[in-house]
Amino acid sequence: MRIIENAVAGRRYTSAGRRVPVFNPATGEQSAELPLSTPAELDAAVQAAKAAQPAWGNTPPLKRARIMFRFKALLDQHADELAREISREHGKVHDDALGEVARGIDCVEFACGIPHLLKGDFSRNVGPSIDSYSERQPLGVVAGITPFNFPAMVPRWMYPAAIACGNTFILKPSERDPSASMLAWNLFMEAGLPEGVLNIVHGDKEIVDAILDHPDIKAVSFVGSTPIAEYVYRRGTSAGKRVQALGGAKNHMVVMPDADLDQAADALMGAGYGSAGERCMAISVAVPVGRETGDALIAKLKPRVEALKIGPATDPDAQMGPVVTKAHRDKIMGYIDSGVDEGADLIVDGRGFSLQGYEGGYYVGGTLFDNVTPDMKIYREEIFGPVLSVVRAADYAEAVELINTHEYGNGTAIFTRDGDAAREFADKIQVGMVGINVPIPVPVAYHSFGGWKRSLFGDHAIYGPEGVNFYTRLKTVTTRWPAGIKGGAEFSFPSVK
Ligand code: NAD
Repeated sequence: MRIIENAVAGRRYTSAGRRVPVFNPATGEQSAELPLSTPAELDAAVQAAKAAQPAWGNTPPLKRARIMFRFKALLDQHADELAREISREHGKVHDDALGEVARGIDCVEFACGIPHLLKGDFSRNVGPSIDSYSERQPLGVVAGITPFNFPAMVPRWMYPAAIACGNTFILKPSERDPSASMLAWNLFMEAGLPEGVLNIVHGDKEIVDAILDHPDIKAVSFVGSTPIAEYVYRRGTSAGKRVQALGGAKNHMVVMPDADLDQAADALMGAGYGSAGERCMAISVAVPVGRETGDALIAKLKPRVEALKIGPATDPDAQMGPVVTKAHRDKIMGYIDSGVDEGADLIVDGRGFSLQGYEGGYYVGGTLFDNVTPDMKIYREEIFGPVLSVVRAADYAEAVELINTHEYGNGTAIFTRDGDAAREFADKIQVGMVGINVPIPVPVAYHSFGGWKRSLFGDHAIYGPEGVNFYTRLKTVTTRWPAGIKGGAEFSFPSVK
């Protein structure tokens, strides 16, 4: 059985910790064994990162960027291999995995230009012969804890920016699909990254707690579910760390009566069922405005959901793969049962789906509910599966009210041909990322990603310019030349007279 290693101080080794299985969700077979690192192993990784940081932080930003350029080129060359590694442990179809790899590479590309953002400001003559400059300095050792659903992209939201800014990094990938991180680590080392700058330890709650409590880790980026994000934020900040913790979502898409309904239905298919609904920016709630819009939308969605092609990533025709684990599949089935029990109309039932030759795989068929109401569990909670709920709204105001009062505020979209409605929606909606006729508005790498409300804990969004601010702190230096100016001691507060 393949054993997944840790990577610390430029070296891969097998951890001494207890072992958990890693599965191939397409077949249900075990594909590897993952030792969960011990707190002592984490401490060794932190010490390696701490030892490497002063030299790395002092390396000219352009030299750091050159390594990043080589890393980007190697990721491009190995994109297919990375995508296969993702699919093997996550289950998503190959094109989807390739898309994830590409969006991760975008973040590396952005990090190549980070020297430009570290320049700071300079002001001459802030006082007589006095100049002032500000700069952004790295924090030191920082850590990232990532979810299963984007095993290649989400780590790239974190460490390229952190490392380009002069920090050293500890990555704790999801224990469900850790291999893509190891492949990328090999490539980064091949690109010339010095030992100890990027270190990987694996594990579950025990190692996350050790990261949150470790006095030498200065900041933590977390992406995962909301209860854990909130926990990580509270525990990390009480230990004096800077923390950004991105959580779960329930993303609504409003369909206005004037929308092109074929376009809206196609958008809902990709956004609702792509990656089996396991995306934090997936649309899980469609909100048609008006009865006629609702009836017409259901009529367009039903045959599309019934025709979804579900299969393993090795099937080039598959549009959607299995979900990540058996436990997650059972949880999604439980949600579908609860939707039926609470009185929603089950238009397409994905519970009976099975695939010949892949009976052990964790498949859930595409599922569509109509007449879901805000009090139902399937509306309130994040399901994270191929289940789309249609919540009908009488008018635009009711649709907006639904979104604004939901506890999550990650992404949302509106489909309309009315510029006024679109502009009003973008302005007033209480959500961090908004799409106008765009169902999955994930910001590009030179913007930043972040939800509102209980979809993000902390003051910084992730990657892009916000990432640079998160991984650096501001220093402002005031200088006086010539130093020998005489004039005696001054006891009043310095000001320009
Ligand atoms: P998760 O919260 O179960 O796990 C995330 C990380 O936390 C993993 O590394 C895991 O090992 C660790 N963890 C799990 N339980 C823990 C505990 N009790 N204490 C400490 N650490 C713990 O999330 P997941 O199932 O891997 O990922 C799916 C979730 O992530 C969804 O809720 C999804 O919406 C969210 N997500 C959010 C974003 C975003 O940008 N907002 C992006 C991707 C995924």
